[in-house]
Amino acid sequence: MTTALARANVPGSVLSLARPDILELQPYQHAKWDPSLERMHANEMPWRAQGDNSAAGLNRYPEPQPHALVERMAKLYGVPSSRVLVGRGSDEAIDLVVRAFCRAGVDDVVIAPPTFGFYKVAARIQGAGVVEVPLRRDPYALDVPAIIEAGRRAKIVFLCSPNNPTGNAFPAADLLRIVRELSETSLVVVDEAYVEFSGAPSLAAHIDEHPNLVVLRTLSKAYALAGARLGTLIAAEEIVELLKRIIPPYAIPSSTVEEVLALTEAPQRAIAAARIRTLLDERAQMADRLARARAIARVYPADANFVLVECRDARAVLEAGKSVGLLVRDFSAYPGLAGCLRISVGTPEQNERLLAALERL
Ligand code: PMP
Repeated sequence: MTTALARANVPGSVLSLARPDILELQPYQHAKWDPSLERMHANEMPWRAQGDNSAAGLNRYPEPQPHALVERMAKLYGVPSSRVLVGRGSDEAIDLVVRAFCRAGVDDVVIAPPTFGFYKVAARIQGAGVVEVPLRRDPYALDVPAIIEAGRRAKIVFLCSPNNPTGNAFPAADLLRIVRELSETSLVVVDEAYVEFSGAPSLAAHIDEHPNLVVLRTLSKAYALAGARLGTLIAAEEIVELLKRIIPPYAIPSSTVEEVLALTEAPQRAIAAARIRTLLDERAQMADRLARARAIARVYPADANFVLVECRDARAVLEAGKSVGLLVRDFSAYPGLAGCLRISVGTPEQNERLLAALERL
């Protein structure tokens, strides 16, 4: 057992919240990673596939938790590498946290709907209960006292800020109050998939003060790398060590490692930052025009790369988009989102095409 995991026995350790069987699990033993030796230990083919021009060779298994990638994400998010776990999108991180902390049929998670749908699905797959504490309306806001009350009886509280699909960020003070109040009883997972579009600081800076805080970041949105599938979980070292024990072997494909390392260098980061600025300008213009369109009853405040709108006739708006070749997301059948569509901000040309179609309604 690693030193960080050994702290599970220390009273008050956040690991006392984890599933006891996971704490005791003998993890899968990877083929040893030793680049100084030639590999005859992992049942790989000794030759590359025809046309494989990758740096590492796709005939070889990748390094588990690739060192260079972990270092890069730690630098990108401004945290020590010991607080970083990389996985296949933040989706995998959500799944791992639920698996490690929730006993099937016994433990619950708390969500604040309307919110990202995978928290509930991941919990249900694991057999965990889901307690819903709906957002307050007008504006959408966390019901902080109710979340704290429900959270005390649950293992994990999932909070998404900026929230998908409502689009707004919640005050850091509210998020941190929930984290503080639940320090003895539950993990609080703050999903920051869209934080780069919000101007709000990441809560990752607070990880060391709050061992029950888990922050999720992703390259899928601001870094334009959704297809690479790379998410980062930032948490206390003992949580990272625990999750390393249950992440599937060789989780990150070597092609992803090579692409992400190449595509998150300083020049690419500068371009990503410029594109975010362009997107924010587009978002502001889009929100303005939507607010003036007769087909739209309401435009919700947007801190992410999309805008939630309430339509007078959601079907008509959806069809207007399709008629010019554009698909937006229909949330009109979801509880609390009657008449609502979520529009991801596109290129200026796409935005103009969509808005022109809506304005004809
Ligand atoms: N969290 C939120 C709030 C999301 O909206 C999404 C993707 N739609 C995810 C996580 C999953 O992102 P990833 O691509 O990193 O798995």
